[in-house]
Amino acid sequence: MKIAILSRNPKLYSTRRLKEAGEALGHEVDIIDTLHCYMDITSSRPTVRYHGQELPKYDAIIPRIGASVTFYGTAVARQFEMMGTFNINDSVAISRSRDKLRSLQLLSRKGIGLPRTGFASKPDNIKDLIKNVGGAPVVIKLLEGTQGIGVVLADTAKAAEAIIEAFMGLKANILVQEFIKEAGGADIRCLVIGGKVVAAMKRQGAEGEFRSNLHRGGSAEVVKLSKEERETAINAAKIMGLNFCGVDLLRSQNGPMVMEVNSSPGLEGIENATGKNIAGMVFDFIEKKSKPKATKAIVA
Ligand code: ADP
Repeated sequence: MKIAILSRNPKLYSTRRLKEAGEALGHEVDIIDTLHCYMDITSSRPTVRYHGQELPKYDAIIPRIGASVTFYGTAVARQFEMMGTFNINDSVAISRSRDKLRSLQLLSRKGIGLPRTGFASKPDNIKDLIKNVGGAPVVIKLLEGTQGIGVVLADTAKAAEAIIEAFMGLKANILVQEFIKEAGGADIRCLVIGGKVVAAMKRQGAEGEFRSNLHRGGSAEVVKLSKEERETAINAAKIMGLNFCGVDLLRSQNGPMVMEVNSSPGLEGIENATGKNIAGMVFDFIEKKSKPKATKAIVA
């Protein structure tokens, strides 16, 4: 098959591994710089152009769209969908996953375990918001943060109020969340492909750090999931409409709680921790599922 990876950087571990794994399976794999794609939105014949030429017809695309280019990146992915190309992660589902609040709202409706979360835009609601999620300590998150940046732990209600006021003063959208202390600075990354958890790892934050992101100095090891954790990850991926994603769980005393669903999951940490060929599994899924016009926006 002829498959395009939409990625701004061919040198990234995940991009390189996907190309290598696809080629090893006999596919023709091109890496296309998302921001260099431009679109011809013509009636009945949508196309994508690249460096002065129309791109060839691909059987499938694998979008790896960074958080900072979500708007343009999803527009490019959508253009491929309009052309009937199979997109492993629907553009609508990617947009959805980029907004933590929207994601939590969708997951809550379906009864997925979540940390209690509040959202407000006015400072006069802050005290009640903090009380509602169970009082301090609370976690405060920038709505569109990534890699643990913009995630703050406030130990006291006073500190929480001050931080929330500061964020609101900057017109940033934030959510306030119950702090799951018993998670012990660790979370579980479940890698889901085609409705199955194909690998899982436990990420532990560096000493004295409650955030477990590998980018923040956390370390990873293989973990065995409980049945409930596995089901939670699979359901979360399904509700979000993502075929290839990372579901991050916290182990709480009330069972697994979903923190977020990542639509461009990094492969380096999980392949190294588990020794599995995750990139290859992405292509196995595409081989099975990709049919022209198979992408459809799942309305959640
Ligand atoms: P990002 O998308 O920036 O990675 P997350 O919401 O995943 O942000 O938070 C980063 C890390 O902070 C998580 O991986 C987890 O270890 C920790 N964390 C986030 N929310 C909570 C919470 N409510 N309780 C305990 N730890 C949390």
